[in-house]
Amino acid sequence: MSQTPSSADVGHYIQGAVTAGVSTRRQPVYNPATGEVSRQVWLGSVADVDAAVAAAQAAFPAWADTPPIRRGRVMFKFLELVNQHKDTLARMITLEHGKVFTDAQGEVSRGIDIIEFACGIPQLLKGDYTEQVSTGIDNWTMRQPLGVVAGITPFNFPVMVPMWMFPVAIAAGNTFVLKPSPTDPSASLFMADLLKQAGLPDGVFNVVQGDKEAVDALLVHPDVKAVSFVGSTPIANYIYETGARHGKRVQALGGAKNHMVVMPDADIDQVVDALIGAGYGSAGERCMAISVAVLVGDVADKVVPKLLERAKSLKVLDGMNLAAEMGPIVTGAAHARISGYIEAGVQEGAQLLLDGRGFDGKTAGPGCDQGFWLGGTLFDHVTPEMKIYKEEIFGPVLSCVRVPDFATAVQLINDHEFGNGVSCFTRDGNVAREFSRRIQVGMVGINVPIPVPMAWHGFGGWKKSLFGDMHAYGEEGVRFYTKQKSVMQRWPESIGKGAEFVMPTAK
Ligand code: NAD
Repeated sequence: MSQTPSSADVGHYIQGAVTAGVSTRRQPVYNPATGEVSRQVWLGSVADVDAAVAAAQAAFPAWADTPPIRRGRVMFKFLELVNQHKDTLARMITLEHGKVFTDAQGEVSRGIDIIEFACGIPQLLKGDYTEQVSTGIDNWTMRQPLGVVAGITPFNFPVMVPMWMFPVAIAAGNTFVLKPSPTDPSASLFMADLLKQAGLPDGVFNVVQGDKEAVDALLVHPDVKAVSFVGSTPIANYIYETGARHGKRVQALGGAKNHMVVMPDADIDQVVDALIGAGYGSAGERCMAISVAVLVGDVADKVVPKLLERAKSLKVLDGMNLAAEMGPIVTGAAHARISGYIEAGVQEGAQLLLDGRGFDGKTAGPGCDQGFWLGGTLFDHVTPEMKIYKEEIFGPVLSCVRVPDFATAVQLINDHEFGNGVSCFTRDGNVAREFSRRIQVGMVGINVPIPVPMAWHGFGGWKKSLFGDMHAYGEEGVRFYTKQKSVMQRWPESIGKGAEFVMPTAK
């Protein structure tokens, strides 16, 4: 029997109501700034997933039949509510993730972009039509929803990444089961409530909190038709293979190691601003964070001293302090993992210019001495064989790699197993053009350090940063959540007499 959740617990959201479900497992949710346990989150079982999928499956026929313009109107209302409650969502993000409040507001804004995109669903679902493909015959295509689709999301954008998925999926006529990260689960229930207030019928959007058990149940469930995943590469690979084996459409976005190439003609102050913001913003816990500065020719000697000076003066504070530039690390485990990478860098011979392990949070704000704190870390003379170059650290650790020329920079990046985002700072139009054309990375910035594509362009990396072939949101998102049907039609008056035994051709 379903348990009633206590207010301190984060439950699931099934058939329009919060429930503790039937599982007996829970996990603490921390405030990373103080290290305190703020809540417990239920970890869903197979039965909880079954209940959520059953609710979504039951809601599907009526929702799919609802005219797109009416589904779009629910999105418009949801958009209004999210705008109204933007700061509440941002606060939830900061208290469970740790990122600074203004950055959390930015996260919600980028999610809002996708809701705005989804409001235009009637236009996006418009099919093609050809009159008279043969005498008396017309042919058209339409895009129809898939059914129940699932979204499995990471800790680092608890609002934006789910919003990459569900507004488009739902507006397209699907029903949805979200499995958020158990690290910062509260925003998922708040979003569910706003969707209900916006008039979304019960069962169309459901949330199952949890870990591998819930994910595996979704991956094998016969009624789940498609899975969108965002998270680390090993899990993305697993989701892609397991989902595909069970007949599902899968898009699985993975990890990253994003480089920023600095050409000798670049504006040094702009470069330093960009590296500081993109390297240390959100404590480096962004899939589009810059973690490697590729310094071409003699530019290193100009960039590194300024970078060090700025990294030393980063304002590392409780994220709710509006003066903060960087908050804590998300969990104690992530803190230990990142610290281990810093040690590995030292052991491998990289030059450690600034060691964030010295920062204990005592100056970050009241009660922060027990939080998960690291300061900004800067390495110089990192080389491609080093573990800190090859692997994703996902923390406030910036590595400088020195290369002699542009061609070596491009080769270095193309040889890396990840291909999420990349950037090149230059004043030379031809270098910019060559870079954009030759680089083997899905999202490219020219003098833009974090080139996250806008809502109507779609987001996705290459190589081990994306398994599957359709990007999140944008028109590819609409295609991912719909299937094309082609209809050929003629009326009895134009049908000739007699059976045809050869391949039909235009007449
Ligand atoms: P993660 O892979 O640990 O978790 C992602 C999701 O998978 C969570 O919902 C988690 O509960 C679930 N999960 C974890 N282990 C699992 C397992 N063994 N089996 C089944 N499910 C499992 O990622 P994270 O630590 O939450 O997020 C950080 C990672 O996400 C980084 O690697 C980052 O680069 C990546 N990321 C990528 C993008 C992108 O667009 N490419 C965007 C954001 C984050």
